[in-house]
Amino acid sequence: MSATEQDLREQLVDVMLKMASRGLNKGTSGNCSVRCGEGMLITPSGVVPEALTPDAMVYLDASGAPESNSLAPSSEWRMHKGILDRRPDAHGVVHCHSHHATVLACAHLPIPSVHYMVAVSGGPTIEIAPYHIFGSEALAEAVIETLDGRFACLMANHGQIAIAPSLARALAIAEQVEEQAGVYWGTLAIGGPKLLNTAQMDDIAVAFRKYGQPRRGR
Ligand SMILES: [Zn+2]
Repeated sequence: MSATEQDLREQLVDVMLKMASRGLNKGTSGNCSVRCGEGMLITPSGVVPEALTPDAMVYLDASGAPESNSLAPSSEWRMHKGILDRRPDAHGVVHCHSHHATVLACAHLPIPSVHYMVAVSGGPTIEIAPYHIFGSEALAEAVIETLDGRFACLMANHGQIAIAPSLARALAIAEQVEEQAGVYWGTLAIGGPKLLNTAQMDDIAVAFRKYGQPRRGR
């Protein structure tokens, strides 16, 4: 095993532990993956974060086949593989059922331009992929289409997903999606949000690019 692969395995464990400690996930829900050589590494199916080790991460080759002695990959491996195959700009993928994002996803409410940090998702809104049963090719396709060049989306009656050039960045985006979902949800409880307009969101996108750290926000 190369040092790089070992590092990526450790990164996956780290992200799963952070998702659990930061309340983005509960139990065995949620999973993440990272590009590794010609294939990818993904978290195993049905293992609680505290029990994960770098060795438990599952390598899938370019065809999606796991190594013979590995654990079963996350049931969402098709979604992760589809994204990594079709989004060359993405190297890390984080999926979780964070509370507020899931509330909105279950109400089929996309996140509008409620706060400038919504733009961290790569667009002025955070859209919702249509519902398909977990683990299906149809869900993978729906998520890829809904992402449409952006870095995050909600998943109807399910949760949210974030992608980025690194696993750490994908986690940061997922955290921001959850934050913005909470903000939007909160505004709905007190009469509804006052949205930023298209010109204001365009200015934010330009400002993010100008500072050279469009994915970090301010
Ligand atoms: Zn899920």
